Amino acid sequence: MVTRVIPVDPFDLVIFGGTGDLARRKIIPGLYRRFVAGQIPVGTRIIGAARGALTDADYRDLARKSIGEFVQEKSRSQEKIESFVAALHFLKIDAMAENGWDDLAKMVRKDVVQVFYFSVGPRLFGPLAKRLNDHNISADNARIVVEKPFGHDLASAQALNQELAEYFDESQIYRIDHYLGKETVQNLMAVRFANILFEPLWNSQYVDHIQITVSETVGVGGRGAYYDKSGAMRDMVQNHLMQLVCLIAMEPPAQFDPDSVRDEKLKVIRALDTVSPNDIVRGQYRAQGDNPSYIEDSENPESKTESFLAMKLKISNWRWNGTPFYLRTGKRLRARKSEIAVVFKDPPHMIFGDNAKHRCNQLLIHLQPNEGMDMRVTIKEPGPGGMRLMDVPLDMSFAEALGEAADNITDAYERLVMDVIRGDQTLFMRGDEVEAAWAWTDPMIEAWKARGDLPKPYDPGSSGPEDALMLMHKEGRRWREIT
Ligand code: NAD
Repeated sequence: MVTRVIPVDPFDLVIFGGTGDLARRKIIPGLYRRFVAGQIPVGTRIIGAARGALTDADYRDLARKSIGEFVQEKSRSQEKIESFVAALHFLKIDAMAENGWDDLAKMVRKDVVQVFYFSVGPRLFGPLAKRLNDHNISADNARIVVEKPFGHDLASAQALNQELAEYFDESQIYRIDHYLGKETVQNLMAVRFANILFEPLWNSQYVDHIQITVSETVGVGGRGAYYDKSGAMRDMVQNHLMQLVCLIAMEPPAQFDPDSVRDEKLKVIRALDTVSPNDIVRGQYRAQGDNPSYIEDSENPESKTESFLAMKLKISNWRWNGTPFYLRTGKRLRARKSEIAVVFKDPPHMIFGDNAKHRCNQLLIHLQPNEGMDMRVTIKEPGPGGMRLMDVPLDMSFAEALGEAADNITDAYERLVMDVIRGDQTLFMRGDEVEAAWAWTDPMIEAWKARGDLPKPYDPGSSGPEDALMLMHKEGRRWREIT
């Protein structure tokens, strides 16, 4: 199977924060892979901008190192790397000062697509937008890409939206959530809306519940002080898990265009009930061996911030009333895994008796570590001995189904950057979507703060606090194992 590459015209991409972790790990390697795929034409300029005093040659060296470290060996060739880095330049620019902007104005063309990637902290978004405007750098069709976190509550997200809106139209703003760039997440829309099989069953009449797990094995060490101001609700639930809930729960949009899709996602967020405290479990990891506890990592002995959160969500609309969505995410858990399970109800009447051991159908959507989907269906266990049933997967794992084409599954960041260049906002969050998500999140955070709730301790390498298991057990359901 040959993967189609849609060519684009030469463009100018400026990466503010061009020497940072994100640029080195994701953006530069992603651009290189698109270059190798033939998608970045000659004449494109990629300009790193940051506060350090680097020359073009230094920046090209930084790019060579980042490609060496973060691109698979089979995609690396000396010749390709050299032609790619030739498109790279560097400018010393401080977002908070006036130096360097005129050099940028000279280097960035107004007659090609301009992309300004704000790979810096959110407090610099406004100053960058203002200076791009004041120094007459951005053209009318310029695009800006902004990273998470987009605010830390509704008020700060509104303020950020207003700051950006002074200089850029909503159609120019690309709020990135890399979860939306994953192949499987988009496949979720294809599976739902390009097949007749699933949609008739995709509602509370047939779906018993949905579980979404995003678990990590790492702790917050290194960025503990930063994380402590955020916690799992703000860091993961408000953005990544919320986006997954939206894609599972939304109504079919009339068209596959950015606003039709985002309108439907927004309706889901607005239909979310506030979760009762009984349906939220917050946790903090303990120490284990030489590994520090959350309290030690956060350097805050008084910390009540959660490194784990599980909750039961209700969506109050016709389709989902009666089908709970269970979400869970945390650090220092047993395995690194992101998965959605759509768990269907039992057939209305079982003719095979109790010994048959029937289990329910499940559609499993794996986002990490290996992307793919499988559908668990029940069949007869082979051999004599009566009608015993077993679950088998109808496997849609990309590696097997797509053969070599699976090697070309693009990383989320490179796909999203190319979408920006093509001007496609479908997989980016609109300002009102982000605000609605914060409007749902804020009261719950305020309530647990006001009550002074303490997070429950849990062992590293476990699947979180015992109470999180009970959230489902008490209703006769089970979390899937984190393995
Ligand atoms: P980083 O600290 O590694 O890099 C920050 C970059 O910004 C550096 O190049 C630095 O020189 C530059 N910078 C800082 N202050 C500046 C100023 N006043 N003017 C111009 N440049 C300035 O951070 P990072 O990890 O690369 O993250 C960048 C943004 O992306 C942050 O908002 C972060 O929350 C977000 N993000 C990062 C990741 C990741 O995996 N690293 C993932 C998701 C979101």
